[in-house]
Amino acid sequence: MKYIKKAEIEIREIDRQLAAVLAHEIRNPLTTVKGFMELLKPYLIEIGKEHYAQIAIDEINRANDMIYEFLNASKAGFNTKTEIDLNKLIKEMKISFDNQANIKKINLSVNLCPKKPIIYGDSNKIKQVLINVLKNALEACEEAHAGDGKVCLTVKSNSLKAKIIIEDNGTGMSEETIHRLFSPFYTTKEKGTGIGLSICRKIIEEHNGSIKVHSTHSQGSVFTIELPMASN
Ligand code: ADP
Repeated sequence: MKYIKKAEIEIREIDRQLAAVLAHEIRNPLTTVKGFMELLKPYLIEIGKEHYAQIAIDEINRANDMIYEFLNASKAGFNTKTEIDLNKLIKEMKISFDNQANIKKINLSVNLCPKKPIIYGDSNKIKQVLINVLKNALEACEEAHAGDGKVCLTVKSNSLKAKIIIEDNGTGMSEETIHRLFSPFYTTKEKGTGIGLSICRKIIEEHNGSIKVHSTHSQGSVFTIELPMASN
């Protein structure tokens, strides 16, 4: 049984490496095509068709964004798990996003957990999840408000589980979005990739946790991430 588990981990690692190499290789021809589109632009402007070049460049940028997000997600392997203090991580997130929130006139607040909520995991990956959910929350507030957006990060825990709650008073979601938001490539944004939340769910599941959403259209959204405490 032990050997099967080891083989499974090795196969998964090879898959991950192959996917990362492939993603990297796809970026090279895309960059070449983008370069040629830029060169063609002046000729297309002359005949009043520059929008064709712009659409092509925008689409190449979108493909590049998807590959970038994918590469980011597959970077760290399985052996990088350590103890993570969620209070500390959330404080770091606040510092990283404070500036962005200020510029967008969004109030970003934090409620830490009075107990020490320690989980066991890959801190880069958990950070990636929080960055993505927070980025979405700020974007939803920006879209819905002119200056009274609020995003609140809360950490809670009991002896078994820790919870991170990310609440915003942004656009909220339609029934369809609530249904589909974790599906790869589902996006309602003009320049979105729809990859972020599908990767978030995968990461949280790899950590034996769950990510759930509660949202009301035009009122806001609440994401709840649950993870097992380290000692369990
Ligand atoms: P992207 O941000 O590139 O669209 P995501 O997978 O991160 O990809 O999100 C998928 C979709 O989920 C978004 O396009 C948006 O419609 C919806 N969504 C995610 N978070 C929020 C939020 N906090 N408020 C409103 N809608 C959201």
